[in-house]
Amino acid sequence: MLQNFKIKPGIKQIFRTGRWLRSRFSKGVLILLYHRVAQTDHDPFSLCVTPGNFNGHMEYLRNYTHPISFQEMLGSFETGELPKGAVVITFDDGYADNLYNAQPVLERYHIPATFFIVSGCIDKSFWWEDLTQIMYQPFSLPNQLSLTIQNHAYTWKMNDSGTPARRNLFKSLFQLSRSVPTGERTHLLKELKAWSAVTDEQWQERRPLTAGELLELAAKACLEIGAHTVNHPLLADLPLSGQEQEIIESKFSLEKLLEKPVISFSYPYGLNSDYTSKTIFLVKKAGFHLACSNFAGLAGRKSDRYQLPRLWIKDWDQTTFARRVNRWLAG
Ligand SMILES: [Zn+2]
Repeated sequence: MLQNFKIKPGIKQIFRTGRWLRSRFSKGVLILLYHRVAQTDHDPFSLCVTPGNFNGHMEYLRNYTHPISFQEMLGSFETGELPKGAVVITFDDGYADNLYNAQPVLERYHIPATFFIVSGCIDKSFWWEDLTQIMYQPFSLPNQLSLTIQNHAYTWKMNDSGTPARRNLFKSLFQLSRSVPTGERTHLLKELKAWSAVTDEQWQERRPLTAGELLELAAKACLEIGAHTVNHPLLADLPLSGQEQEIIESKFSLEKLLEKPVISFSYPYGLNSDYTSKTIFLVKKAGFHLACSNFAGLAGRKSDRYQLPRLWIKDWDQTTFARRVNRWLAG
């Protein structure tokens, strides 16, 4: 299933820069953020990197950078001996393709990684993928949608079932869904399923890991499991009690399943506006050793360990990936 990747002569210069970077710079650690390693028709959130490109990324990292784990990163912050060209690989959400398409490549290149899991979605489905399935099903949708969400009445008119109308409605529904309490979101999705008459057939390739698959992933050498809340809410929009529940329960349920401590966390969505200083306090209080955000930068000794920057990796070919990684590592 994985393509063999051949190095093109045109990118020799970029590779030379990579070698140079590894020998010269130790300004900080570049933490990479992946979600899925898969090929799909609908990727409205730009979550997918194809298996071929992912192989190209890992090949480059192994040959021209210094991939390390979070443990090694924290250790190097303590000693002050930061490896040159250090990178940490992370995955958010916990898609099944992480086990089948990413893990074998990580193993091939001996690259450590941390997987942040939405604990309440294990063995179930991701609500945003349910929404994608409803909105991007191949059949036409009814012309009007009326919903009441958090005591507000909404009506959308769809004059046609073409892509722009669907995309706009999808965007609105996603924004509304991520801010409502879990019970209301479940109810909303049920209403949408009935409205769209979508079949219950799962989009298998978009599913989360099962408990068994997560245990398989966690058992691999150099792979770490972190928490990413229970339901992937927009934490900043939840009351403090709701935030605390999402943070603590994800840690507890993963620890119960894995029978080992879960010490790293990543904020859903992860921009500064998606969590607050109180969220950070709750993450510290829950006993996590570090937390990752979703804005680019280098992590250094003086960085806030509870807001570590990450570079969101898109479906770039190896040349583009190498150029972007080099740019960040060079500071
Ligand atoms: Zn996420």
